[in-house]
Amino acid sequence: MFSKNQMKAVMNKFVSKKAGAKKSPVRYRVLPASPEAHRFEVVCTVADPDPAGQRFALPAWIPGSYLVRDFARHIVSIRAVQGSGAKARPVKLKKIDKHTWQAPALDARDGPLTVTCEIYAWDLSVRGAHFDTTHAFFNGTSLFLRVLGQEDRRCEVELLPPVDNAARGGKAGTRYAKWRVATSMSRIKGRAYGFGTYAAADYDELIDHPFEMGEFTLATFRAAGVPHDIVLTGRHRADTARLASDMKRVCEQQIDFFGRPAPMQRYVFLVTVLGDGYGGLEHRASTALVCSRNDLPTTGMKEATENYRTFLGLVSHEYFHTWNVKRIKPAAFTPYDLDRENYTPLLWAFEGLTSYYDDLALVRSGLLSQEQYFEQLGRNITQLLRGAGRKKQSVADSSFDAWVKYYRQDENTPNAVVSYYGKGSLIGLCLDLLIRHQTAGRKSLDDVMRALWKRHGLTGQGVGEDDIERLAETVTKLTLRRQFDAWLRGTAELPLRALLATHGIDLSLRAAESGADRGGRKASKPDAALRARAVVGVRGTAAAGEYKLSHVLDSGAAQSAGLAAGDAIVAVDGLRVGSGGLDAALAQRRPGETVEMHAFRRDELMTFGVRLRAPDTDTAVLQVAAGKRPADQAAARLRARWLRG
Ligand SMILES: [Zn+2]
Repeated sequence: MFSKNQMKAVMNKFVSKKAGAKKSPVRYRVLPASPEAHRFEVVCTVADPDPAGQRFALPAWIPGSYLVRDFARHIVSIRAVQGSGAKARPVKLKKIDKHTWQAPALDARDGPLTVTCEIYAWDLSVRGAHFDTTHAFFNGTSLFLRVLGQEDRRCEVELLPPVDNAARGGKAGTRYAKWRVATSMSRIKGRAYGFGTYAAADYDELIDHPFEMGEFTLATFRAAGVPHDIVLTGRHRADTARLASDMKRVCEQQIDFFGRPAPMQRYVFLVTVLGDGYGGLEHRASTALVCSRNDLPTTGMKEATENYRTFLGLVSHEYFHTWNVKRIKPAAFTPYDLDRENYTPLLWAFEGLTSYYDDLALVRSGLLSQEQYFEQLGRNITQLLRGAGRKKQSVADSSFDAWVKYYRQDENTPNAVVSYYGKGSLIGLCLDLLIRHQTAGRKSLDDVMRALWKRHGLTGQGVGEDDIERLAETVTKLTLRRQFDAWLRGTAELPLRALLATHGIDLSLRAAESGADRGGRKASKPDAALRARAVVGVRGTAAAGEYKLSHVLDSGAAQSAGLAAGDAIVAVDGLRVGSGGLDAALAQRRPGETVEMHAFRRDELMTFGVRLRAPDTDTAVLQVAAGKRPADQAAARLRARWLRG
């Protein structure tokens, strides 16, 4: 996609490069004014506003998170003046759409135009801004107005410490005296980790360095000579030395994968630690992460727990984006159009291939054993097989519609949507195994990624819709057209079993042991016993004597009986559903039996006759094949080479 606005931005870039860098920068001042009311005061000063009427806008979305979020809805007040000091006079701004304001025509000789916003910040996620008496976090997309026509100007940010509103008697408060600042944006004035002035080359860079302020824990390490910071906000008892040494291994593995030197001067992990949380957003020289307290390693912990491996997987994923999506970018994102959705069919590559490499990087850096990796792959396959959406939507379509489907999930999502993360990562696996097998190990998906880096990452040239497919064929000298058509644009099952077999890995499918069985491991019971378990084809949660349905799966027993998402099942055959949920309520039942279920839909009690079914064989387990034939040994060599990288 290439809109009129994008064309304008490209032209502006061209013009400003020719005109040189003499133009005045756009200046911002961030004052964390009201911690108790969660409000920042942000001042934007434009030295030479557009004489025809300067426009200002806040982005509708944040790159990396493909949903229109309308950050301007958090602007509580906005006002403008022209001139400075005693000469300043108010200027009336006209709001022209949900996130754009326009100043009237002004005489530039009357001085700079200054816009002051009060912005509410109470979104504790990696995508927004959050501010209270304990810390402040913000993305530039939430705070910094874009000065239309001056997007290519240098931007300077003066960051002030919060105002201690509790201080009395004219004395400066001390409540925030120990606060520090963490960001990957370049500091031009002030102490390291201090309040002061920071600068970005243009607006695109300005909104790509989130900030954290507060009394955080700081750990540092160097990876391939590049300084890396780990900034932990929130209560925790993490072993920061362990974190630093493990994260260094992941980072160096990835830097070496694409080739030294690393593409950034320094890198910052901004981590918000919560009781329960998970998420990340990538940036050019940093990432914002949210994790659960239990995901972090504690002192004396020997084994990497499953929770910690999940955290390392998140770290690995966001770090891989430093190359794949922050520098190797879809053409649709060069430049981003911040006013509206930016459509691309390629998220399967930017998110899916990143998901493929996040766990693979952990095996290759020795943080995940081969068994643990195969268990994870088994779970990924299981997750794909349990969604009927894979039979209805291709990953190319899922990428394109991310804005209205994947990012706006509802009760119908498993039945209608395929994840470009999950299936995309398994397409990465299939491609990699296919290339390795057909070239007898001479080429791999790694070579394709490095070619993408050379051609698109190092040059900044956007990736066109079929560039990855063409480059993969050029690099490997294989004809892959049929596979790309089927895997990216089709909905047929991926040939996972056959491709895993080329690397000496058996993929077997069995029925789930329980609703909590995510796959990846051998079952404790024989197949016949697993198939004797009665299921109804729903997802939900048990609470206070009822089982609330979140999803009713396509072609399942519950759907056939007429149950719907939102229904609260209160009894099965006249007995109340306990804390064990439906699994426990149906434990004594067998497939083929019919049970009566009582459920509330809204406030009406309804009765359903549900004919129970046997579970599908949708749970994947991977095992190394034990063969001694020469073909098995060749497969073992391919496998070792793949996992070694
Ligand atoms: Zn991602």
